[in-house]
Amino acid sequence: MDGNFTFSIIKPNAVRTGKTGPILAMINEAGFEIAAMKMVKMTVEQAESFYAVHKGKSFFESLIEFMTSGPVFVMILKHDNAVEEFRKLIGATDPNKAEPGTIRKIFAISVQMNAVHGSDSDENAQKEADFFFSTFERFLI
Ligand code: UDP
Ligand code: MG
Repeated sequence: MDGNFTFSIIKPNAVRTGKTGPILAMINEAGFEIAAMKMVKMTVEQAESFYAVHKGKSFFESLIEFMTSGPVFVMILKHDNAVEEFRKLIGATDPNKAEPGTIRKIFAISVQMNAVHGSDSDENAQKEADFFFSTFERFLI
């Protein structure tokens, strides 16, 4: 199973403005299969735990406020070399630095409200998938 899946979130700004469908279309067109997906509204405790690695950074508090500001879609996505391929599809954290045609270039409205999350390693993909999904909620992987 190593390397064939990643974890993603469609963030509140994108869900709120009706971009879920267009983003899912780009994900599917890039060859990713949805292995699990659900809509959740994170609690402050969940968001703080999910982003624990950023605790203490200047943007931490506002990131938690943003990520709990509305519902998100959490997903497990299947693809060969999924983590790297998905990071390529979403583009750089800062949309000004993202390549043309990437999801963040198209849908981000700021560094913070950058439309999507993608895991940065196989280890974190596993941890993040386990944080949101039980075994019974996953298919294909
Ligand atoms: N973020 C922010 N301000 C910053 C850097 C990051 O609000 O200066 C937010 C942004 O939503 C980003 C998330 O924190 O996606 C996690 O940051 P990271 O550096 O891990 O970027 P990513 O892995 O999401 O590209
Ligand atoms: Mg990150």
